[in-house]
Amino acid sequence: MFEDNSPKTSLSELGEFGLIDHLTRFVEIYQPSTLKGIGDDAAVIHHKDEATVVTTDMLVEGVHFDLAYMPLKHLGYKAVMVNLSDVYAMNAEATQITVSIAASNRFPVEALEELYAGITLAAKTYKVDVVGGDTTSSTSGLVISITALGRVDPKKVTSRDGAKPNDLLVVTGDLGAAYMGLQVLEREKQVFKVNPNAQPDLEPYAYLVERQLKPEARKDIPDLLAALEVQPTSMIDISDGLSSEVIHICKSSKVGANIFEEKIPLDPAVISVCEEFNIDSTTIALNGGEDYELLFTVDQKDFDKIKANPNLTIVGHITEEREGMHLVTRGNQKIPIKAQGWNSFDDEKEED
Ligand SMILES: [Mg+2]
Repeated sequence: MFEDNSPKTSLSELGEFGLIDHLTRFVEIYQPSTLKGIGDDAAVIHHKDEATVVTTDMLVEGVHFDLAYMPLKHLGYKAVMVNLSDVYAMNAEATQITVSIAASNRFPVEALEELYAGITLAAKTYKVDVVGGDTTSSTSGLVISITALGRVDPKKVTSRDGAKPNDLLVVTGDLGAAYMGLQVLEREKQVFKVNPNAQPDLEPYAYLVERQLKPEARKDIPDLLAALEVQPTSMIDISDGLSSEVIHICKSSKVGANIFEEKIPLDPAVISVCEEFNIDSTTIALNGGEDYELLFTVDQKDFDKIKANPNLTIVGHITEEREGMHLVTRGNQKIPIKAQGWNSFDDEKEED
């Protein structure tokens, strides 16, 4: 889907150290906790009396991304978002990242510059410091591994195991758009294979494609919760679909949950493209993934603080563990929630 006539510099021309210097020349420091960044044997971070959170995610070509429609700059940006999302899910502020890249010789220096441009744009936008990493050669595809650090008042950490019966289940933003963006891009890739002259018209799908190619992590939510004086009882980011994240919280917290189908926040673009693809939009929201929104639970007493906030939607509540995990449909059927990806719910229906 790309035509690229730009100059190509082979990785071997710069060598490993030259490449690191070259790629990191625009790296800036935003965080006072970064005592030492790139350029020594290790970075030095000083979070004083706050807790430090650490998380790592690896993205592998052909498994997590397809360069046929994923521009490298977007890939770099997204690789950072995936990690920051996990930091924000702990109710923490993201402060530093390290970036490790393995690339084969088919990637010229200019390609890695594009990747790094996305990484540094994300760092600048989210005020995190790139403090280290590694570059190495790979025999085939491209691999990016990012580690993110963050800081949080130990009293405010939100883990997955604190939800209790009668807590409200809350999601940020809307769900399913990133997955449908991927479906649109996959469809265009197939069209392009048959007819390389076809110019994809992605305009009607702009929101969906952007959610897939350039997701934004919810940096604003820990700040919003602090401003609302709400301490969530548990929190997780929605990377694999609402179903699997609800299951994670319920299993860790030893509770059950009811999610109400009619409450699940969907963008109108998701509803219309699901009709076009003849897919059930609830299934997409539950199982689609890559939304990088947050799912959290709050005590009922906080209802008034969150009920009118446009960023937050109450989608259900926590129950006793023995009651299990269910989706309550618009028709008032209770369907067990399972992390089942693409299977339809049809075999699982139970009358209530
Ligand atoms: Mg996560």
